[in-house]
Amino acid sequence: MKIVILNGTVIDPANNTNTPRDVLIEDGIVRAVEKPGMFRKTDAEVIDASSLIVAPGFVDIHVHLREPGQEYKETLLTGTQSAVAGGFTSVACMANTNPVNDNGAVTRYIVERAREANLARVFPIGALSKGLKGEELASLGEMVDSGAVAISDDGRPVMNANLMRRALEYCSMLNVPISVHEEDLHLAGGGVMNEGPTALRLGLRGIPNAAEDVMIARDITLARLTGGRVHIAHLSTRGAVALVRQAKAEGLPLTVETCPHYLTFASEDVPDGATQFKCCPPVRERENREKLWEAVADGIIDMIVSDHSPCTPALKMQQQEFKIQGVVETQA
Ligand SMILES: [Zn+2]
Repeated sequence: MKIVILNGTVIDPANNTNTPRDVLIEDGIVRAVEKPGMFRKTDAEVIDASSLIVAPGFVDIHVHLREPGQEYKETLLTGTQSAVAGGFTSVACMANTNPVNDNGAVTRYIVERAREANLARVFPIGALSKGLKGEELASLGEMVDSGAVAISDDGRPVMNANLMRRALEYCSMLNVPISVHEEDLHLAGGGVMNEGPTALRLGLRGIPNAAEDVMIARDITLARLTGGRVHIAHLSTRGAVALVRQAKAEGLPLTVETCPHYLTFASEDVPDGATQFKCCPPVRERENREKLWEAVADGIIDMIVSDHSPCTPALKMQQQEFKIQGVVETQA
């Protein structure tokens, strides 16, 4: 079966393309990407992509699919249905399921259920500590053997620096990165929004940027010590951008993500009682947000992820912003 996508703007970073192109797909495989006008006389099904962007399938390396354990929220089937509806053909899912994905049996269950769903590719991320408790290492090797592509206690920070050190040493042998949720719980102190004048005015307990910065400084130090690969999840502060900039200049194997909410919202704009803005780390100040945009433009921030179930509002917002029309799963 042939499909041609005409008149779209193809954005394909792998091939350094951001230009009007027509695309020919045959039996699910991209056969040719050519200047407009090349495929007009074909017998193929035609999709008119005028004023639209045509891109390879998006990858979201930080989602929370809720199966096993919270199927009333989402299953691997509905999560991947939602992902492909939004143009995401690969997702990596965090370990805070019930039971926690901290051993090979749960990892294999996720891989198997995702295979049955047969929609987006699902890459499980295994827990760093047993039960996400931050006390002893989970079965890292077993999970990697069963298909885990990274290790993370996401949802919680690893407060024990020695446990993080051991995990980094182990993971550098297994050749997988550790994704870190950076939040010093003592500094965060049960806060519910960014620390600053807005929190003061609303009478809410604030979380300072420092709660994130000190943990990122620690894990950069541990990456240097162990040679392990650190991936910083949902970076939200300008201070952390500066730390990462320096670490990358030094050549440390560091990757960084941020999320749409840190790039679009600002704490000054959070109205009283608007709990939909509550997230962790919190939405920071406007001036901070501008520094994040600069870091995206500079490549200091490597990627933008949802950090949500694909069904939740932040990703829906992302999808609407890009006005995604449809997905053709292809192999280039
Ligand atoms: Zn997190």
